[in-house]
Amino acid sequence: MDELDSFRCLVCGFIYDPERGDPRRGIEPLTAFEDLPDDYTCPVCGVSVLTQNSAFVRIETAGHACGSYRSSQNGA
Ligand SMILES: [Zn+2]
Repeated sequence: MDELDSFRCLVCGFIYDPERGDPRRGIEPLTAFEDLPDDYTCPVCGVSVLTQNSAFVRIETAGHACGSYRSSQNGA
């Protein structure tokens, strides 16, 4: 089973939930974030979601509290 990851817009806080998609804009439910059309933009603030400077970040699914959590937030 593929786990579809949700993505959050850092600009406005909008969360793209792939299980729901965005039917108002023609995005079928169960559409992975990576499969969104190139011209898809945040429905709230309008930022593009698929540029290299995308403001969207993957939301890690909770449930690893007891495991080895590795942080990858080193900005360098
Ligand atoms: Zn946004």
